[in-house]
Amino acid sequence: MSIVLHGFGLGGGIAIGQAYILDKDLDDVAEFTLEENEIPNELARFEEALRATRKELEYLRSTIPSGAPAELGAFLSLNIMMLSDSQISQAPLDLIKRESCNAEWAIKLQADFLSKQFDEMDDEYLKERKSDVVQVLERIFKNLEGNRFDWEDGGKLERGILVTRDLSPADLVHFKDSNFAGFVTDFGSLTSHTAIVGRNLDIPAVVGITNARNLIYDDELIIIDGIQGVIIVNPDKLVLAEYKKRKKEWQESRQKLRAIRKEETVTKDGVKVELLANIEVPNDVEDAKYNHASGIGLFRSEFLFLRKDNHFATEEQQFEAYLQVVKSMKKLPVTIRTADLGADKNPSWNAIHGESENPALGLTGIRLSLAEQEFFRSQLRAILRASHYGQIKIMFPMISSAWELNQAIHQLDLAKEELREENVPFDENIQVGSMIEVPAAALAIKGILSQVDFISIGTNDLIQYMLAIDRNDEAVNYLYDPLHPGVIKLLTHVIRAANKANVPVSICGEMAGNVKLTRLLLGIGLRKFSMYSSNILNVKNVILKSDVNEISLIVSKILRTENRDRIYELLEDLNDGLNLY
Ligand code: PEP
Ligand code: MG
Repeated sequence: MSIVLHGFGLGGGIAIGQAYILDKDLDDVAEFTLEENEIPNELARFEEALRATRKELEYLRSTIPSGAPAELGAFLSLNIMMLSDSQISQAPLDLIKRESCNAEWAIKLQADFLSKQFDEMDDEYLKERKSDVVQVLERIFKNLEGNRFDWEDGGKLERGILVTRDLSPADLVHFKDSNFAGFVTDFGSLTSHTAIVGRNLDIPAVVGITNARNLIYDDELIIIDGIQGVIIVNPDKLVLAEYKKRKKEWQESRQKLRAIRKEETVTKDGVKVELLANIEVPNDVEDAKYNHASGIGLFRSEFLFLRKDNHFATEEQQFEAYLQVVKSMKKLPVTIRTADLGADKNPSWNAIHGESENPALGLTGIRLSLAEQEFFRSQLRAILRASHYGQIKIMFPMISSAWELNQAIHQLDLAKEELREENVPFDENIQVGSMIEVPAAALAIKGILSQVDFISIGTNDLIQYMLAIDRNDEAVNYLYDPLHPGVIKLLTHVIRAANKANVPVSICGEMAGNVKLTRLLLGIGLRKFSMYSSNILNVKNVILKSDVNEISLIVSKILRTENRDRIYELLEDLNDGLNLY
């Protein structure tokens, strides 16, 4: 039977392929019966996951920050001890042998068994230990997943379509190396980091299809329409033929856009605009160059710390990554944002800080870097060292005040001092910038402008914090509105203040890559747009067809109204003739 499911489309056109279902939760683990000769390998997988879990917990214990609660060390020690308990280390092995089942299933059986035992206890204190035990088993399970799901293997599935509960931003970094034609997730909203990285992959994807994994079976044929946010499972012949046609049309329109790749980005009335690229990993530079980006406007360096195989990138490893990017971009500018970790981008070493009740309001971005000075210093040193080989700019994320920015600059000065003492060369004139993504920083922009060489507005977070909606929560996604009059007013305030102070300003949030907003942003004075590379030509196309003088009248009307319907109406007028709707 054919079914149609709706979610949030991440673009990337249309893909047609067979489903590959990936489980991730202990709650929905699948059971496999193993052949006799497969059992030794399964036992080894479990033991490897056990070793990895021990290493992870020991690392966490050895890196507890000084201000952490005293019980934390004892708690982690208890967790480590549990790993030696036969109920955890031996029972799953016995189950694998006895039931000829996969290791995940053995962990699930053992977790169920132990939970039941705890539930039956009379002692309240002991009863409470149930969650500790289950958490330890879950940790082993996650490490097992880490070494079971081989992205390359997934990629061998003849360009299949991954259907999964959720993909973390870190998962998506691995996805880049795989060969899937598209993906579908149960969870997700349009502005989550997962969606942003997903969009950057430029492959068809739809997120937030509740229950996708229960409605789709392995190997079923699926059509993903990433533009409309729709998937069709088991399409009939007519629908399939229609989508094959649409897929071809989409590819042809992309092909046509390529003709403007090398053209200068300038409006009809001669206003020059810079289009920069957002990247997550060094290899993304290839797309940036292909689309003739005038530089990297945002290198989300935190992804260096989110690789499954390495959450602890050293100074040397970071230096190599920055060097690769800067060398590859030749003389063009590369803006490296220091790690914006925390909230939904958490490496394992941050498990302690990561437990905030409100992670988006917790120790994220620059706050985490300032709290973890050794980590911060190694990153600043790596960036400075790479600055000797090209044009690097450094940018700090989540700055909430001029005072906080000052602290970050002070740390940068200390790193410079160290390198000078060691006679290590770096660019003494390296430009320093601040992200503007906290509303208070945007309002008090003058204090920030006086301390930096440039600013870049992170509209994804700015909107989240202005409108008080979690950007990762699909339940409130409908409120996420870049055209909220408050948002437009604040953007205008920041852009005009920066232009007046002669401090270069860009937008590097998703708004910059949204073609429906290009003319509005041009009209309020933006001249630098930084976006995922696959959107550069779409935005360029709009700029080439725009006249700043001509649009100014409608833009000023948009700035004067607070009526939502009127704003949308005026935006349609503004984009008249562009064929975007
Ligand atoms: C933003 O917040 O707009 C931004 C560019 O940063 P990120 O999306 O990585 O939080
Ligand atoms: Mg941000």
